[in-house]
Amino acid sequence: MIVMKFGGTSVADRSAIERVVSIVRAARQVAIQPESPDWRGPVVVVSALGGATDRLLGIAAQAGAGDIDGARDHLRALCARHLEVAGIVTQPDERRQVEQFIRDAFGDLERIAGALGVLGEVTPRWLDAIAATGEIVSSRLVAGTLLSQGLASTWVDARRVVVTGDTHFAAPPLVPETTDALRKIVDPLLASRRIPVVGGFVGANRQGVTTTLGRGGSDYSAAIIGACLDASEIQIWTDVDGMLTADPRIVSNVQVVPHLSFAEASELAYFGAKVLHPSTIQPAVGKNIPVRILNSTRPQDPVGTLITKDRPPSDRPLTAVASKQGVTVVDITSTRMLDSHGFLKRIFEVFEDHGTSVDVVTTSEVSVSVTVDNTRHLPEIVATLEAVAEVTRESNMAIVCAVGDGLQDDPSFVSHLLEAIGGVPIRMLSQAAARRNITLVIHETDLESVLRRVHDRFCAKVLT
Ligand code: ASP
Ligand code: MG
Repeated sequence: MIVMKFGGTSVADRSAIERVVSIVRAARQVAIQPESPDWRGPVVVVSALGGATDRLLGIAAQAGAGDIDGARDHLRALCARHLEVAGIVTQPDERRQVEQFIRDAFGDLERIAGALGVLGEVTPRWLDAIAATGEIVSSRLVAGTLLSQGLASTWVDARRVVVTGDTHFAAPPLVPETTDALRKIVDPLLASRRIPVVGGFVGANRQGVTTTLGRGGSDYSAAIIGACLDASEIQIWTDVDGMLTADPRIVSNVQVVPHLSFAEASELAYFGAKVLHPSTIQPAVGKNIPVRILNSTRPQDPVGTLITKDRPPSDRPLTAVASKQGVTVVDITSTRMLDSHGFLKRIFEVFEDHGTSVDVVTTSEVSVSVTVDNTRHLPEIVATLEAVAEVTRESNMAIVCAVGDGLQDDPSFVSHLLEAIGGVPIRMLSQAAARRNITLVIHETDLESVLRRVHDRFCAKVLT
């Protein structure tokens, strides 16, 4: 059984949803072959219509600030957008039901907005209730569309099957409870040859209070549902062809990476290739279920990237090269570091106290260099550190991260890499213990040429 997750751009409007219908139909044709290993399903997981979650969060803030009329106007506009898209449901009876569902959901939100406006506060619980509505209505809408186009689908309320902890907006799915609920509600549907359609991002705690899994959480939903139901594959349908060998805005001859290991995908996502957040597919990887990224705008020509725990060896050491701009380097030097313990801990505590995360770290006996993305609290951080060390900072830097499982088998790779980038000054250099990546910090102005050279030399060949 396959889980197919469609992101916000894949369900943004009528023509996008039409494409979803043909993609699901094609998968279904495979699934109904008696000899097919995937003879059940698929299970469909959908995000909110593109942009809907942002709108809903904006509306919640507006209501909390007391602008009830403004919030209502925006809710009515968003409701109208959903009703317009619902025109895609061709069966009149089904369409009426979908429209009523949408009107009821937005009617509830208007009442909630009114109450929040009076209270002048949006509690996490209400924020989740509002945000969740995007996926609740989009999944009902997609279920109705599939059904009216001859695909036997059933809407499944995510709040009944994804059981989570209580932390609103970052609710952790509870695997045993979710497995039980899916077995009870989704398994019978699959057994009777129906296509369950579930909203991503949304769940409910043990008491039945609506929760959400955090922004971008629909991938996480798909992974959890797939893992709990022992799916054979999880497909993430999005609006790009897959993970690319480099940032296409900087390098022109990029290619789709056909097969990545999960560890490689994590390294790449970290430094900018944000097709999916690796922690969101962890449940699938934990159960060794392959995850495939596919482009819903070009379903007839699916290139796609497959992500599995391990991947077959390729003849190239480098899988892809990720990059990130707008980085600041902080150098911290102190002779107190010599022969003393606890110094690094104190340094990192200062960053932690100011909610600033550190990306690349290099150290020597007397100095530590780190890169940070978010410089909002840097003045306070520097002031605190200056009590114990000499501190300098340099902005407009960039990170280049060369990633590949193959690096483990090629001890000389770092020298080839340095040779390829020629005389460009390198501010920091690190090779991780797992030897799956080599990270360079350079001046932003050198990024384009470095990225091109590394990509041309190590990535631009035909991929196996
Ligand atoms: N709709 C949610 C968001 O925009 C979840 C998702 O799309 O994955 O964050
Ligand atoms: Mg997403």
